[in-house]
Amino acid sequence: MRTIQAKDIIDAVATMCVRANTELPDDVRAKFEQAMANEDSASAKEVLRQLLENADLAMKTKLPLCQDTGLAVFFVEIGEDLTVEGGNVKDAINKGVRKGYGEGYLRKSACDPLTRKNTGDNTPAIIHFDIVPGDKLKIAYMAKGGGAENMSRVTMLAPAQGWEGIKKFVIERIAEAGPNPCPPTIVGIGVGGTFDHSARIAKKALLRRLDDTHPDPKIAELEKELEEALNKLGIGPMGLGGKTTVLSVKIALEPCHIASLPLAVNVQCHSQRHEEVEL
Ligand code: SF4
Repeated sequence: MRTIQAKDIIDAVATMCVRANTELPDDVRAKFEQAMANEDSASAKEVLRQLLENADLAMKTKLPLCQDTGLAVFFVEIGEDLTVEGGNVKDAINKGVRKGYGEGYLRKSACDPLTRKNTGDNTPAIIHFDIVPGDKLKIAYMAKGGGAENMSRVTMLAPAQGWEGIKKFVIERIAEAGPNPCPPTIVGIGVGGTFDHSARIAKKALLRRLDDTHPDPKIAELEKELEEALNKLGIGPMGLGGKTTVLSVKIALEPCHIASLPLAVNVQCHSQRHEEVEL
């Protein structure tokens, strides 16, 4: 059995919150550059140029990439041969969020859903736990802004609707979202599981690198098909028109009930802020 200190989790989470909000990942930057080269429209090119300039400024000044620094979402894998001393993992993650969002001057967006009173420190974090073999703790963090999250949807399709039904629903949702989720977006699609589980896997799919390829060639083909269809919508960067409405489509599948076809579409904006750490 391996032991780690809760304090190390707090510090690692605080560092991740600040770094992810100020440093655009290299795969997202590369997609902006490819999209800029591929666009014909002057306004689309200019928006992408400004997004790259914004990323450079954020890196240089250590100011956030976007004023909406999101709810703090975590996917955590805890090794079954690991113990934590000095506190529990959930409290340590919340303390890390409090520290990171406080010391990094990141906007606190968490509030009571009815009174709308701000919790003051961006907690509670949204944490998804998995127990895995081994003695490591893997923490993935994502800053989830309101604009993109508001455009996300879950539905229960009839099984007979199949891939064509899935594709139609996703295209309609992204068309309806228009400029609201700050395109170009990344679209996470969860197919299967249950109502709630489809949403969870759709969100987790957003943690994949934008330049990766799904290990199942058939799903990789579907991701490509959907990405091409979404980019034909013409919404373009920040909704000003163009060929780049989405940067990538990521599909996650799980077995589901014979009577159901759960489908979740989780939209992430161009400000794709995420980090992972292993302790
Ligand atoms: S959707 Fe993303 S880029 Fe747009 S305001 Fe929200 S966090 Fe910022």
